[in-house]
Amino acid sequence: MISPSDPQSSSTAHSTAATPGAARQSSTSSGSEDANQLIPVRMLNEFTYCPRLGYLEWVQGEWAENIETMEGTFGHRNVDKPDRKSIPARKKSNDNGDRDEVQSDSANGDSIHARSITLSSDADGIVAKLDLLELDGGVATPVDYKRGQVPDNPEQSWEPERVQLCAQGLVLRANGFESSQGVLYYIASKRRVVIPFDDALVARTRELIVQFKQAAAEEQIPPPLEDSPKCPRCSLVGICLPDETNLLRAPEESVPDGNRIRKLLPAKSKALPLYIQHQGAFVGKSGDRVTIKLKGEELASVRLLDVSQVCAYGNVMFSGAVIAELNRRSIPIVHKSYGGWFHGITTGLSHKNVELRIRQFRTADDPEAALTISRQFIAGKIKNCRTLLRRQLGSTDDPVIANLAEYRKRALRADSAETLLGLEGMAAKCYFEKFFPMISGIEHYDVDGRNRRPPRDPVNAVLSFVYSLLTKELTVTLNSVGFDPMLGFLHRPRYGRPSLALDLAEEFRPLIADSVTLMAFNNGEINQDSFIARAGAVALTDAGRKSVIAAFERRMDTEITHPIFGYKVSYRRVLEVQARLLARYLLGEIEEYPGFVTR
Ligand code: SF4
Repeated sequence: MISPSDPQSSSTAHSTAATPGAARQSSTSSGSEDANQLIPVRMLNEFTYCPRLGYLEWVQGEWAENIETMEGTFGHRNVDKPDRKSIPARKKSNDNGDRDEVQSDSANGDSIHARSITLSSDADGIVAKLDLLELDGGVATPVDYKRGQVPDNPEQSWEPERVQLCAQGLVLRANGFESSQGVLYYIASKRRVVIPFDDALVARTRELIVQFKQAAAEEQIPPPLEDSPKCPRCSLVGICLPDETNLLRAPEESVPDGNRIRKLLPAKSKALPLYIQHQGAFVGKSGDRVTIKLKGEELASVRLLDVSQVCAYGNVMFSGAVIAELNRRSIPIVHKSYGGWFHGITTGLSHKNVELRIRQFRTADDPEAALTISRQFIAGKIKNCRTLLRRQLGSTDDPVIANLAEYRKRALRADSAETLLGLEGMAAKCYFEKFFPMISGIEHYDVDGRNRRPPRDPVNAVLSFVYSLLTKELTVTLNSVGFDPMLGFLHRPRYGRPSLALDLAEEFRPLIADSVTLMAFNNGEINQDSFIARAGAVALTDAGRKSVIAAFERRMDTEITHPIFGYKVSYRRVLEVQARLLARYLLGEIEEYPGFVTR
């Protein structure tokens, strides 16, 4: 991840020297442990731009691409290729910072240019990958490549860039070279800007290194910037949620009414899930596309850019090349049985936000803390059930509306998980008594209340299938945010059950899954021909399932006005925002997990 160095700038690019999340990595070998504690100077650039950004990347291992990061990587494509030139070593500085003696260099006074060199300084606790090193005898000048134009300001550079470059100079000094200045090379302007490493810049650089180490050691994430022009250009804006977090941290009386915060998140994601339910299908890769073939015949070909996840039902095969590419792009493959039973996910390396998983496990192990969150899940679910009925019934006079309001109040006061589950069960019973008659032609489907495993009628078959789609969606989302989806707070761990996804699904069941079921039946997208019955169990046919998946995806793309933040956002994005707010709560940034409830 790279941030722009300044809101007005388009100049920063990033290298690949850093390992995000490395501040938290541990090792059995003390040597590599020490290496992991060194701050990459690229991360120091991020910390200078915004302390929270540096923390999110270095301590929590967060990463996201945006146009600036991609341009930065592209601009670095040549300098990131290491060359094979040998560089004469210098004797390192002594404890006083003086060089005792300079080894004779093999260059005999000739200047040397070398690319992509990694050096470190134990004294300053930093490691740097230099884009280019210009060496003239014992004098070393680091050159850092920046995308974009020379900034139009008196320094012709931004502070994060100067600090990063100066840190490279400190690393060179610690390795025995003289380094009194560096160069920022602006790719778009094709211009070099010389930056002297004067006392003020060295002191500022060292001050920031100390602050960064302190924040990492205290495991205290710096607060989001307030209303900063830096945020809209920051690639981590969707992870950081600066305005949302600030709003939820602010005292209620200080928050004005109306549309209260900037909309920094895109309302929708362009990439969508790819569903494959052809038995015997083979998924491969051709260039930058995913291809799906059956008996050698191509069924579909989709750009990898347009795929957010691959969802395979039953007997679907994958080539090694497509698995590797999907892993590399952090696109998960969800494996389900033909009937929709969740078997697992293939992903790349697990998320590096260890801090979040530690808090998740601690909270799950604390019954009172787990109950506090669970109350919000269930109270949110009951409120959303009530809202769905109120809208469909067009009246608030029905006693079930009052009953659900009462169950919600009691859920918020429940003193044990058992009580909470009991209230949830009672609320669900009275909700479904009203829900089933809302389905047109219900008299043909022989429905006798909510049933499952296996569903015994078409309506319950659709409900179970849509709940499994919602659980799948939340499992993928929670995994990408850094949670372990298997460990919940309300649903206790059980083999193969993504308990946390089931927890978070509670508040969304009426809004997404039950609404999709109503729409699919009432719009005529499915009918009696969409089901097969076998020995008392009812399941969707292939065509029926395709119709329900289409209805589900439409619902996920539906934009609504966020009840707290006031901006338009799709349900798909809402799921991610909720997962991130749950993370902000567990990490202590906000005082209460705000359940998602519509009005
Ligand atoms: S979105 Fe804003 S507050 Fe958050 S990390 Fe980026 S610059 Fe910092």
